Amino acid sequence: MTDDLLGRHRAVLPDWLALYYEEPIEITHGEGRHVWDSHGNRYLDFFGGILTTMTAHALPEITKAVSEQAGRILHSSTLYLNRPMVELAERIAQLSGIPNARVFFTTSGTEANDTALLLATTYRRSNTVLAMRNSYHGRSFSAVGITGNRSWSPTSLSPLQTLYVHGGVRSRGPFAHLDDQGFIEACVDDLTDLLGHTRPPAALIAEPIQGVGGFTSPPDGLYAAFREVLQERGILWISDEVQTGWGRTGEHFWGWQAHGQSGPPDMLTFAKGIGNGMSIGGVVARAEIMNCLDANSISTFGGTQITMAAGLANLNYLLEHDLQGNARRVGGMLIERLRAVAAQVPAVREVRGRGLMIGIELARPGTDEAYPEAASAVLEAAREGGLLIGKGGGHDTSALRIAPPLSLNVAEAEEGAAILERALRSIQ
Ligand code: PMP
Repeated sequence: MTDDLLGRHRAVLPDWLALYYEEPIEITHGEGRHVWDSHGNRYLDFFGGILTTMTAHALPEITKAVSEQAGRILHSSTLYLNRPMVELAERIAQLSGIPNARVFFTTSGTEANDTALLLATTYRRSNTVLAMRNSYHGRSFSAVGITGNRSWSPTSLSPLQTLYVHGGVRSRGPFAHLDDQGFIEACVDDLTDLLGHTRPPAALIAEPIQGVGGFTSPPDGLYAAFREVLQERGILWISDEVQTGWGRTGEHFWGWQAHGQSGPPDMLTFAKGIGNGMSIGGVVARAEIMNCLDANSISTFGGTQITMAAGLANLNYLLEHDLQGNARRVGGMLIERLRAVAAQVPAVREVRGRGLMIGIELARPGTDEAYPEAASAVLEAAREGGLLIGKGGGHDTSALRIAPPLSLNVAEAEEGAAILERALRSIQ
């Protein structure tokens, strides 16, 4: 970086604003599934799908919609009618599967979860909330209070009473040795026991696949069993779809659909990819829950015309091009290819995921121990090879995360898998 951007970053921004890579990169532009850094290096982007770019970089359809909207107005006010906001809300309400759905837009996933908590606690008159161990829901005062991932979670300072539930990670924890059925029964018993010793909680919030937690998920059937226990007691289900929504998991449009639950959640939250880089977040809830607040509005910038124009163009593109089907096909192929590589690399403990949301868990060869140095080494080696991927995992950051834009094609999947194969073999 010729003007020492890194030094300037470190001097003026918080120390905890983490940067990837020993030599952090500045991305200057992108196209399709590729991005370029300030030195002109080109990378295949296998992580942008989670961070920002769900569909593709510099998609002409979105650029056109955004620039046309920018030429008219960026944002009026929540006090005036907003056509793109109404249009996107109508589309999302219909897609959500939630009956009589209302949509509220925010600017981030954190704010979306904050709003969902505000609604749930108000509706149920309880500030007790159930959340999953190892979960991640954001960094605001209340969102961090329901985040089970220890690296993010000063919950003792939270205004909420949070109770953490087992089950989001199949391969670790006290029930990991049980078979799927035994695991489900143990987690349900644990939840039922917890409910017997606490004030009635407002809601349970869960990610269908834990994102920051390393792309882990419970065995099929666990969330359906939880749902039954909660529904009997009137406790709401909030599905945090910030990473799993919009077809990323391939078989389904929303992550909750993969869990065989008895119907849609009471609320779902979304963010990240729906704007393809524009800051959109939001909550969908049944009308009686959404309308339990006595408020004018709770966000100045949620639903700006400019972000809604991007969201509409993005949604149209991903539906017209069946990117969910693409995630299923290309993701299915990629996961098989990576499993074949993994079988030959002793440090790979598991390759897991659905669609284009693939996690690779690393462990010290021959043990169950986390191997964070290896995760960092693979990240660096992949970057050297021209591929950007992510890291994640519970308390130890021992997993690699792969979440490319949903328009990834077969040739690009092959190219990325080959680079990743070399990077994984380098840690043997
Ligand atoms: N929920 C989940 C599942 C997330 O992964 C994240 C972001 N990593 C958030 C909420 C918070 O979203 P944001 O960073 O947009 O506030």
